[in-house]
Amino acid sequence: MSSLPLPANLERFPDLHPALSSQAALVEANRCLYCFDAPCTAACPTHIDVPRFIRKIATGNLHGSALTILASNILGLSCSRVCPVEILCEGACVLHRYNEQPIQIGRLQRDAMDHFYDGGARLPAPRAAARPGRIACIGGGPASLACAAELPAHGCDVTIFESRPLAGGLNTYGIAEYKLRPSDSLREVELIRSMGVRFETAEVGRSVSIAQIEAEYDLIFLGAGLGAMRRLGIPGEDLAGVIDALTFIADYKTAGTVDVGKRVAVIGGGNTAIDAANAARRLGAEEVHVLYRRSEKHMPAFSFEYQRSRQEGVRFHWLVRPVAIHASDSAPQRAGAVECVRVDANSPDGDTRPEPVLIPGSNFLLACDMVIPALGQSRLWSFLEADRGIQFENKCVAVDRATGQTANPRYFAGGDCVNGGREVVDAVAGGKRAARAMIRVLEARHG
Ligand code: SF4
Repeated sequence: MSSLPLPANLERFPDLHPALSSQAALVEANRCLYCFDAPCTAACPTHIDVPRFIRKIATGNLHGSALTILASNILGLSCSRVCPVEILCEGACVLHRYNEQPIQIGRLQRDAMDHFYDGGARLPAPRAAARPGRIACIGGGPASLACAAELPAHGCDVTIFESRPLAGGLNTYGIAEYKLRPSDSLREVELIRSMGVRFETAEVGRSVSIAQIEAEYDLIFLGAGLGAMRRLGIPGEDLAGVIDALTFIADYKTAGTVDVGKRVAVIGGGNTAIDAANAARRLGAEEVHVLYRRSEKHMPAFSFEYQRSRQEGVRFHWLVRPVAIHASDSAPQRAGAVECVRVDANSPDGDTRPEPVLIPGSNFLLACDMVIPALGQSRLWSFLEADRGIQFENKCVAVDRATGQTANPRYFAGGDCVNGGREVVDAVAGGKRAARAMIRVLEARHG
């Protein structure tokens, strides 16, 4: 196990999609066909006017291009880096039909957004006259940021309550460094603060009660994302060297040092498991093994993420289920191996996802000095336990799809707590939708 200072880490995380040079951006922008009925815009959950922002890059108007992006997506900088463009805007590009490479929309968006922030992040819109009605956003992640950013332009008073020292949610703490650095996420937080949004560091349900918030605010947006990562529920998971994927990623992104094993086992098959595995590899782990209980074709991670991970040298083990973590012989308080059982390849493995069937006696040990469970996050809303009339569906907050309003008309919601954990751009879309509906409620109430 080695402990690495953060500056060394940063050098190990070159951008996954490096910025285009100015010349390359111009050439790329001029390849765009500027479709009238742009499928890329339809495929973007925030419906950025893609042809319009690309045309502005082609004419050298980078600031105008950034404003076009921000008009639809206030987190245009982070989305340019983390959106799975292959299945969103770029996946819809008409150039696919001509067997040509799609326009690199994400990298062009990044070009405009980098220019905007490097130039001082100047927004033109003045603040509107104040309107009666106060709005609280619970959680400082992408959904709340996108919701809050819509409101000052309509004169609304808005406060974001975030329990961690830094706002930005998973953008700041939970997305792998090679995709998004905390400094970029914090640039967006500062932009939203500059629009008149207040940030309070407080944990709702502990340092401030939901009753206090209800007493002081007219409408409440729930954008608190998901809870802690689920536990494995197997012996040995409290040994030193076992750290859940989100804590591991948050530590290396924001803490001064991070511990990395020589042989690392990552348990899970989602995108967070891949992020953690790639990070462990780049931070110096000699071997990184991903253990997944189902087959390759049922792995929930995007296939392009999986392919990248293989290029990083990460090894994948399919149809294996960890049943215990054993202590090291030399350090009895530390993890030394994961015991796994093989899963029957003929287990029902379809959409209903029943429990895999284990093969008796197939147990084996995988030696490792670090174990990173990445099993997905829990969906706990303890501060809403007292009945507030909010309804839940599949452990997510149930909302009206057009407005984001919950069954309690004072509460709106968006992002991971509604969709169970999707992309940043989906959270932005959910936050925007709720903000616009809240503005309509305040207009109807106060004129
Ligand atoms: S926000 Fe994401 S999906 Fe939308 S245009 Fe930009 S990169 Fe594509």
